[in-house]
Amino acid sequence: MSASQQPVPLPYKRVVLKISGEGFCQPGERGIIMDCVLHIARQTYQASQQGTQIAIVLGGGNILRGAQFTSGNSSIHEATAHYMGMLATVMNGLALQDALESLGCDTRLMTAIKMDGVAEAYIRRRARRHLEKGRIIILVAGTGSPFVTTDTAAAQRALELDADVLLKATRVDGVFSDDPEKNPHAVLYPELTYDDVQRQNLRVMDQEAIAKCQQYELPILVFNFRKEGNIQRAVAGDRVGTLVHGTKPA
Ligand code: UDP
Repeated sequence: MSASQQPVPLPYKRVVLKISGEGFCQPGERGIIMDCVLHIARQTYQASQQGTQIAIVLGGGNILRGAQFTSGNSSIHEATAHYMGMLATVMNGLALQDALESLGCDTRLMTAIKMDGVAEAYIRRRARRHLEKGRIIILVAGTGSPFVTTDTAAAQRALELDADVLLKATRVDGVFSDDPEKNPHAVLYPELTYDDVQRQNLRVMDQEAIAKCQQYELPILVFNFRKEGNIQRAVAGDRVGTLVHGTKPA
């Protein structure tokens, strides 16, 4: 990852696309709904046709988050719960892989927790090779370590794979001054610096992920994946959503 201050020339050569588990079911529901998975798969497939290399990092919140089990009277150790959360991302990955392949996409499912017979082990050099060959790689099991989220995994993978940008797909249009689902007067920011995000405590990604992106000047684009064509637009470098960057681009 270059520490250059220059905005990246568009369109992007390689991106990491972070999709939360909420993309795999209807709002307010849980589990895996294949229509939702296919919606993401179709958009991602179309985006890949533009020639950009795509690595997808999947969340697992539609099934389970480690934080669910952190109450004092839980008999599950918090670390165990986080491992369960990582396994949830593997289930999402299997569903997305089949959805992408049903569209004719060449894919590889790579896991940070070794799971022979289910998915390939994540090896950085192998992942890069798949990308160079035009395969969409789906990265699951987060970082393989408990106590962090898949946002951190996405930042980590984007840095080690030399991605040009981290595309954070969410259910709202970008980063707002307040929660737009609760406050109708919340204002959408078209662009922000990492410092703006930290200072105003804006909800973009978890703190660890933001800090990593800031340290290496990795831009983050936060956008609404539910809007048809938005994944394609984001991958093409169109200004959808909110761009978080070290220096405000001209
Ligand atoms: N997780 C973890 N280590 C990682 C990534 C994820 O322990 O490197 C666990 C954590 O408990 C997390 C869960 O897996 O809550 C599911 O991921 P996440 O909450 O990020 O999913 P999303 O909210 O994106 O759907």
